[in-house]
Parts: sequence; structure tokens; C-alpha cells
Amino acid sequence: MNNVKKEILNICKYLVLKNYINIFDGNISYRIDNNQVLITPKRKNKYTLSLDDLVILDYDGKKLYGKNEPSGEWRLHLMIYKQREDINAVIHTHPVFSTAISLVENNISKPILVEIVPFLEKIKEIKCTSFYTEKLAESVKKYINKFDIFILKNHGLLTIGKTLDEALFLTEKIEYLAKILFIVKTLGKKFKVLSKKEINEIKNLFS
Ligand SMILES: [Zn+2]
Repeated sequence: MNNVKKEILNICKYLVLKNYINIFDGNISYRIDNNQVLITPKRKNKYTLSLDDLVILDYDGKKLYGKNEPSGEWRLHLMIYKQREDINAVIHTHPVFSTAISLVENNISKPILVEIVPFLEKIKEIKCTSFYTEKLAESVKKYINKFDIFILKNHGLLTIGKTLDEALFLTEKIEYLAKILFIVKTLGKKFKVLSKKEINEIKNLFS
């Protein structure tokens, strides 16, 4: 258990240092077993979190362990574990480029980078007009069985994985894609988008 807690703390620090979250923002959770979820606390400094700051909830949202309140997004996290048996980790961030691009683009999942091609079909952009609510959990629930990456328009990013590293990997990929998209758009020139034929070739390579 302590190893997973340490991993969550390390990821929190990393997210702050990479500007993927403001220091009090974002949330991470991990499925311990089929009735226990480890989750980051509400409104605590993510850079200085300690092991006993983390909270354990049961699947109904009841606190089983912890001196802090759980993240306000606990409904969203629990919904994901209930819907997806294959998923054990959830990371919600507010990365600057992904969030900014989501405001001006209707489709961030552009095939402009070879290494992003295998993940394009896992991206879903959804409207997000609230947080800490059942409404946000319900908006994601409609698509949770088909997608692993959610761009929450006007808000941020949500990635899920079998492991914490897998969810973090997807966060990295999307923010990198958004940065490149931001730069090429700033350059103001027509940019190269991969063709269907090129996309199929890349998919074959990855598979
Ligand atoms: Zn958020």
C-alpha cells in the first residue's frame, strides 16, 4: 500500500513541476481492490502531500481512512471504477495547452504526430460546465466504455489506465500533442496532417 501511496505523491509533484496542475488543483486515484479506492485529498498542496494525507473511500463514497476530505471529484473517480473493470488508475489535470486548445478547437485529436496515432481513437472531447458534481460524472459515463482520454472543454483533462503510469503516459501524450498544435497554429502556416494511408501504416507498425 505504501508503495502505491508514494507513487501517487511522486506523480502529484511531477504534475505541479510540469505545469499540468496548479498546486492545489487536480486529483488522482487508484483502485486498491473491489471496494476500496485511494484518492488525493480536497484542496491540499500537491507538492507537499504526505502519505497520510491520502484518503480511502469505499465504492459508495464513504470514507474508510484518512484525516482529510477526499477530492471533490470523487463521484467521477468512483463511477469510472464501477464502469471499467480493466481500469485501476485515474488522473485528472488542468494542463495549460490541452485546456487552451480545447477552447478554440472542436477536435484536438488531429493526426499530426506519428506517436499519437495509436491513441487518437481513445480521445473524447466533452462539454464540461461543472465540477465536483454528479453531472460531470454522468457526462463522462456516457462515453467511458469506449474512451480512455477525455478532454473536458473549459476545464482540463482526464486520463485512465490499468496502472498509474499508463494514465500518466496518456496525460503526457495529450499535453504534448496540444503543445505542438499550439505552436503550429501560432506559426500561422498550413501544417501537415497525416493522410489516411499514412495513419494505417503507422497503426500496422504499432500493432
Ligand atoms: Zn478539474
